[in-house]
Amino acid sequence: MAYKTINPYTNEVVKEYSNTTDQELEEALQIGKNLYEKFKTQPVKERGKILHDVAAKIREQADELARACTIDMGKLFTEAQGEVELCAIIADWFADHSEEMLKPEPVETSAHGTAEIQHHATGVLMMVEPWNFPYYQIMRVFAPNFMVGNPMILKHASNTPTSAQMMADVILEAGAPKGALTNLFMTYDQVTAAIEDSRVQGAALTGSERGGEAVASAAGKNLKKTTMELGGMDSFIVLDDANMDDVSNIAWRSRLYNAGQECTSSKRFIVMENVYDEFVEQLKESFSKVKPGDPLDPKTTLAPMNTKKAKEDLQEQVDEAINAGAKVVYGNEPIDLPGQFFMPTILTNVDRDNPAHTTEMFGPVAVVYKVSTEEEAIELANDSSYGLGGIVFAGDSEHGAEVASQIETGMVFVNDFRYSLPELPFGGVKRSGYGREMNRLGQMAFVNEKLIVKADRPDMNNLAGGLIATDPE
Ligand code: NAP
Repeated sequence: MAYKTINPYTNEVVKEYSNTTDQELEEALQIGKNLYEKFKTQPVKERGKILHDVAAKIREQADELARACTIDMGKLFTEAQGEVELCAIIADWFADHSEEMLKPEPVETSAHGTAEIQHHATGVLMMVEPWNFPYYQIMRVFAPNFMVGNPMILKHASNTPTSAQMMADVILEAGAPKGALTNLFMTYDQVTAAIEDSRVQGAALTGSERGGEAVASAAGKNLKKTTMELGGMDSFIVLDDANMDDVSNIAWRSRLYNAGQECTSSKRFIVMENVYDEFVEQLKESFSKVKPGDPLDPKTTLAPMNTKKAKEDLQEQVDEAINAGAKVVYGNEPIDLPGQFFMPTILTNVDRDNPAHTTEMFGPVAVVYKVSTEEEAIELANDSSYGLGGIVFAGDSEHGAEVASQIETGMVFVNDFRYSLPELPFGGVKRSGYGREMNRLGQMAFVNEKLIVKADRPDMNNLAGGLIATDPE
């Protein structure tokens, strides 16, 4: 595969990158392994100082980073700025909290002596990341694992090579040692080879089920641990007593943010019948107000999709949905601009055998369902092979939370837009993947939770007490 930045607004090929050679991969693995050995003796606090410097350097170069991201994959510049700042927030949070989170934990035990769990690094990690949040996806894995002491090799998406390299450079310039994060322009076979290598002890992937299956099976064959952050078809449930002004403010953003190319974007709107017509009208109105244009221009509110292929694939999915009976209540018309724009589209009348009911549409297309009971809403939300996030709007947030707790996903926000912060665990269930990033859970993803039991002398009573199967005498 070719690593290229093609600006999806102008279609201009901005920069091409050569693939990594096997020799370069070998060198990166060895540098990573040597650094892992060095990290073992370095106090966590020292890496915290470096990670704070990474946050500062990110803020110093915020506009250059945001601009590169917009040119790589088309995101609105203002959204790119938000993503860059979030990376700095994540770096600062792990720099501040990791020492405490990684402290040995005493274990209460009836055994003789004392027991504790220590948290050790495990080795080099292979990180495979997607284009839709080119910096944030890196930082979600980098910050916690850098603090743990796991060096990382990054294979980023082939269409966002400039952002990947810029973040790797910023991390290095901020003072992280060489090998802490090595960005390589790898082939899929090289990713497999890295996972097979004994110096690599785990793999983290964010992306599609296709990518996830490939990386997880290579890791499984080699008994390496993985975390998988995959796709989603998150529901946005509107209950009968929801505040419709709030719903109207949030619903369109929740689908059109990042041009709809977000794993936790609200892809299915499940709306109670008494507010259904009002909801559809409001969503139509909001969708009609967005302005496509240059994503670097702050007045633009609809970004192009990330590639020509992404736009074509989405069009194919919408056509299939319509052929299977879906009704277009808004959109699905061409936008007369050279960039990869897709007009925000609303589909209704999507039956359960329509492909749009089961397949993730990674762009600005909303499917709206009408339901007549809460039970029906919950059942419909759970009728998905995915389980990533979700939103519930309810008159009473406690009641909204009761509904939220019945949805089979990893994260639900009640009466609010969804967001991501380092202290909040991120991840899903079912085919949305497994494991969590961020929070203490993310910090521990690739840690050796090592038990140390300590006694002054052996407890001879215990030997006879059945804890050891056979008494040698
Ligand atoms: P993708 O095709 O799986 O790409 C993601 C990364 O995996 C890219 O770096 C890609 O490289 C690599 N990859 C793909 N197949 C591979 C293989 N066989 N071996 C090694 N690496 C491989 O995903 P995408 O379609 O671009 O990304 C969108 C998907 O990601 C959506 O489904 C979205 O919901 C999901 N996503 C999930 C989360 C989450 O946190 N759960 C967050 C964001 C996105 P190339 O670019 O070179 O193909």
